[in-house]
Amino acid sequence: MRVAMVSYEVYPFAKVGGLADVVGALPKYLERQNVQVDVYMPFHKKVEENRAKLGYVIEKISEGIELPYVNTEEKFDIYKTTLPGTKNVNVFLIANQYYFSASEVYAGPDLAEQAIFFSNGVLEAIRKLDVSYDVIHVNDWQTSLIPVYLKSLYKDSPVFAKTSTVLTIHNLGYQGLYDPKYLKFSGLPEYLFNIDGLEFYGKMNFLKGGIIFSDVINTVSPTYAREIQTKEYGEKLDGVLRLRSNDLYGILNGIDYDEYNPKTDKHIFVNYDLNSIELKKENKRMLQAELGLPQKDAPMIGMINRLVVQKGLDILAEIMDYVSLFDLQFVLLGTGDAEYEEMFRKLGAKYPEKYSINTKFDIVLAQKIYAGADMFMMPSRYEPCGLGQMYSLRYGTIPIVRYTGGLADTVKEYDISTREGNGFGFEGYDSAHLLKAVAKALYCYNEKEHWDNIVKNAMTTDLTWDSSAKEYIKLYQRAKAKIG
Ligand code: ADP
Repeated sequence: MRVAMVSYEVYPFAKVGGLADVVGALPKYLERQNVQVDVYMPFHKKVEENRAKLGYVIEKISEGIELPYVNTEEKFDIYKTTLPGTKNVNVFLIANQYYFSASEVYAGPDLAEQAIFFSNGVLEAIRKLDVSYDVIHVNDWQTSLIPVYLKSLYKDSPVFAKTSTVLTIHNLGYQGLYDPKYLKFSGLPEYLFNIDGLEFYGKMNFLKGGIIFSDVINTVSPTYAREIQTKEYGEKLDGVLRLRSNDLYGILNGIDYDEYNPKTDKHIFVNYDLNSIELKKENKRMLQAELGLPQKDAPMIGMINRLVVQKGLDILAEIMDYVSLFDLQFVLLGTGDAEYEEMFRKLGAKYPEKYSINTKFDIVLAQKIYAGADMFMMPSRYEPCGLGQMYSLRYGTIPIVRYTGGLADTVKEYDISTREGNGFGFEGYDSAHLLKAVAKALYCYNEKEHWDNIVKNAMTTDLTWDSSAKEYIKLYQRAKAKIG
């Protein structure tokens, strides 16, 4: 089985969110199960910057390649490196100065053009490298036009004769919705612009193209796969998704146990595991010192998130003044919408002894919070899979979540009588429910025996990639079977 995995961001080369973590880890576990994987991504400026820091070697293997269909004079080069932590996972970088030299991943002259240029570039790179893949595995809207190209302009191309496609939807909230003029730019045939194709309320919807033209589709948790077929969570694509119901699966992401391991994590103050769990408190003490919070054993709630409406910040805002009555500390790390950054800054100014507000992107501080906090706040409105709650479970930091999507599939309510469960949560999206969950968490924190139990349950939750990688292999086989 030979698979091309295509993504706009890949850890550790360029990471913005969970997508990068998934595409950075899954190939490693597929390789261990004898799948031959190549990764394709843009050669972002970030990849170059991280090269200096991480020391990977990149070589140019081809240059000056033209795109036959896209309405541009721009050409691209192909560079190659290897995915760290793997033996033979090649990473092919699609390089173009004009499109991929912005300092941030999701910046540049025109995101729609960049996605089109990259998507068609990947197919031309594959043609150039002359590799016959069984599956091209695309991710999110930025790469969703690849199946559309394959089923139209490339349908008679010999190198793709046996190539099927899998689309993974990491977040249905981001669809790539653009002016129809981009269809012309893409070179895709005009007949595709209709209700059964790329058209969506008069606009061009990239993700919809992927949903319709991929052989098999999946999303990143079983619960989210069910939810997105309903009007409430379907973001106006629920009808199209229901049409593809038979080919739509949910596979929970795993986390990289080598990267995220409190016993070996180089970023945290003191390493620990279940047998030396008392050292977790040392991480809290030193984090308090670093952040200028009083060094005391009050429960610390961490939160690491993009500050966007998806993450449940409106219901959180409603309870923060009440939560601040308790003897606790709240550490936020996140960037995003100005109104939420402002909301947290105000809380920080009002309760300087209790809040540490860090509106920046900082991978090292993130690890220190996963290790040092006692609880992890994630009351999402919707959550396709969610990685934050999984990292925190692994570090014995107990999640407080809304039971939706992947949060419902990974966090089980702690039951005071049976002593089972690894976290706290609520179902209806409502601040009163959230407040009750926080109160229960604080109660259990004060009952040492319960807390020890919860931490043990959290740290022994199986969150490995191994079983998910097996599910992906089944998915690839299904996709292969579809094209005969
Ligand atoms: P999403 O993909 O919706 O952003 P996830 O929970 O799936 O949410 O993944 C978020 C990832 O990004 C986690 O690894 C989290 O630790 C990380 N992250 C989010 N914000 C920051 C930040 N400001 N600094 C460092 N890491 C962050």
